[in-house]
Amino acid sequence: MKKRIAILGSTGSIGTQALQVIEEHADLYEAYILTANRQADLLVQQARRFQPSAVVIADESRYGYVREALADQPIQVYAGADALCQVVQNDEVDIVLTALVGFAGLRPTISAIQSHKQIALANKETLVVAGELVTRMAVENRAPILPVDSEHSAIFQSLMGEESEIEKIILTASGGPFRKYALDELRTVTPAMALKHPNWDMGAKITIDSATMMNKGFEVIEAKWLFGVEADHIQVVVHPQSVVHSAVQFRDGAVKAQLGVPDMRVPIQLALSYPRRLASSFDRLDWYHMQDLTFEAPDLEKFRCLGLAFEALRQGGTMPCVVNAANEVVNLAFRQERCSFLQMPEVIGQTMQRATFVQQPTLDDLFQVDAEARRIAKQLINEN
Ligand code: NDP
Repeated sequence: MKKRIAILGSTGSIGTQALQVIEEHADLYEAYILTANRQADLLVQQARRFQPSAVVIADESRYGYVREALADQPIQVYAGADALCQVVQNDEVDIVLTALVGFAGLRPTISAIQSHKQIALANKETLVVAGELVTRMAVENRAPILPVDSEHSAIFQSLMGEESEIEKIILTASGGPFRKYALDELRTVTPAMALKHPNWDMGAKITIDSATMMNKGFEVIEAKWLFGVEADHIQVVVHPQSVVHSAVQFRDGAVKAQLGVPDMRVPIQLALSYPRRLASSFDRLDWYHMQDLTFEAPDLEKFRCLGLAFEALRQGGTMPCVVNAANEVVNLAFRQERCSFLQMPEVIGQTMQRATFVQQPTLDDLFQVDAEARRIAKQLINEN
C-alpha cells in the first residue's frame, strides 16, 4: 500500500522537492495533504496535479480564492494555523513532512507527534525552540523523527548499524557567501548578496541564516536533540564544497561520513523510505573531477550568530527559543533592509540578555517567551 504523506509547506523549497520525490516514486507514495501560507496559485496548481485529499492555506485571507479555484475538485480546502494542526491528525496520514519555516512549525509538529505519525523533520526551528519537550513527546508517543536536514541525515546515515557511543559529531558548514569577507566588509553587505548561496538553492530565511551562520548554530542545537550529544561534542567544520555532508567520530577514533552532491532530494527521499534506500535519478559524485575538499575552523568573530547559538544551547531552558524568535525578527528586517548584517547578532545578543529566562519551560512558557523576545528584538531594531 502507498504511504500517504502530509507535506506542511508544499510550496517551499523543501516542499516542492519532496513532491518531485513523490512523483518519481508514485508507486510508493501519495501526496495526501498539501499546505501553503501565501502562495495560493502554486498550492492550487499542486493540488490539481497531485490530487491530495485536502489542502490548507494558512493565510486565511486567501481561503476564498483557493476554495473557488478547487471547487470542481474532490479536495477539501481548509484555512488557518489551527487547520494545520488538525489535518496532520488524519488517520490516513502515515508520514508528516514538516517543511514549513520558522516557529510556525512547532504546533503542527507536536500535533502530528501526538497522533503517533512518523515525522520527516525539515523544520529545524521546532527542535531549536522546544527540543527537549518535542523529543520527549516523540518517544512517549512512539512517533519517530527522521531528519531531512542534509547534515543530520548524514549523521543519521553514519550511525546506521552502530551501537557504540558517539565521541564527536563533525557538523560541516559551507561557510556561506561571506566566508572570505573581512569583518569590515560585512558592514555593507546587502540582502541580494546574502541571498546568493554558493552551493544550495533554499528558501530566503534559511539562506540568510546560512550567510550569518545562525543556520549552523541551529543545526548544532538540532543535533543535540536528535542524537543526544552535548554541545562540547559537536564540532563545526567549514567545508566550502558541501560534499562531506557531516560525520561521526567514534570512541576508537574511526570517523564515518556521508558524501554526495548537494541535492536535498536525497535526504528527503531517505526520510520517507527509511530503512530502505530507493533508486534515484539524481546526479552522482564525479570522483575524477571533484574539486579539492577543504576543511577549516569557523570564524566566530565574523559569524557571531554561531557563538550565540552555542551559548543558548549551554544555558538551555528558554534561551534557544529567545534566540530563534530574535533571529526570525532580524532575519526578516535584514531582508527588508531595516537592519544591517552586523546588527543581526547585536540585536539577538541583547535580546538574550533582556528576555525572561525559564529553566524548565512548558509549552505555554515557550509561546510567551517567543512573543516577548520578538517584542524586544523589534524594539531594539527601531532604537538603532
Ligand atoms: P521556504 O521559505 O522555501 O518554504 C517555506 C514553506 O512554509 C512554504 O510552503 C511557505 O508557504 C510555508 N510557510 C511559511 N510561513 C508559514 C506559516 N506561518 N504557516 C504555514 N506555512 C508557512 O523554506 P524552505 O523550504 O527553504 O525551508 C523549510 C524548512 O526546512 C525550514 O525550517 C528550513 O530551515 C528547513 N531546511 C531547508 C533546507 C532547504 O534546502 N531549503 C535544508 C534544510 C532544512 P508559502 O510559500 O505559500 O507562503
